[in-house]
Amino acid sequence: MSYVLGMDVGGTNVVAGLFDSHGTLVRKIKTPTEKRRGADGLLLQLAGFATELLDAEGVARERLGAIGLGLPGFIDPIAGLVDAANLPLSRTPVSDRLGELTGVPVTVQNDVKMIVYGESLRGAGQNLPHVLGVTLGTGMASAWVSQGRLHDGAGNLAGELGHITFPDIPYVCGCGMKGCIETVASATGIARQARDAIAEGWEGPLSARVSADRLGELTSKDVSEACRAGDSMAIEIYRRTANWLSQALVPVIAVLCPDVIVVGGG
Ligand SMILES: [Zn+2]
Repeated sequence: MSYVLGMDVGGTNVVAGLFDSHGTLVRKIKTPTEKRRGADGLLLQLAGFATELLDAEGVARERLGAIGLGLPGFIDPIAGLVDAANLPLSRTPVSDRLGELTGVPVTVQNDVKMIVYGESLRGAGQNLPHVLGVTLGTGMASAWVSQGRLHDGAGNLAGELGHITFPDIPYVCGCGMKGCIETVASATGIARQARDAIAEGWEGPLSARVSADRLGELTSKDVSEACRAGDSMAIEIYRRTANWLSQALVPVIAVLCPDVIVVGGG
């Protein structure tokens, strides 16, 4: 039996999983990302996880075949370069450096692309040839896997559905455009819509829970809980967000014709 290691390296936590040759998860760890000691500190932490997981399972080091990393931001999977705003890895040749530390080949790819690729292999898209995946988290992103192949696109930027714009979305996006769907169909977007509604005078169970000077602390989780409790404005925020999201996905369905759309994220 040989093994591979997959790591999701986020701005807050690293989740590392050891998988057997059938793709079955045998052990997983989750720990805060080491960001205080630059690229060297983080790469040493990741190499340490490989040792920790192998030792915990009693697996000899030479049975580890490869490591795959999913990272946020702009990734060049061929050069193994990472440019991630929330990680101390700017233009670091992560594949080469971690490969030297661990002695096995290391592949890097954008985290959302890896999530969707994983869903196509062993998740909600298993046994389906055409899988479109969308993640709604701090922002919105997507990826497309067709017949086992992840589509990178020019500049590795395929799947940036979050920057589809609509004229009735009033917010300016971090990308510089106005009306990107990511500004509403995301955790930050849901919270932003609720804050604006309260600031504009909407009163209901959610506004009663959050004082005006604490509006900035309102999260999408608060809105979600209010929605479940029947709060009419929270329901309206989710309804219109779902509407924008479906408006974005319908033309994508027309172009790509996926077997399934997998939606995930915090
Ligand atoms: Zn944008």
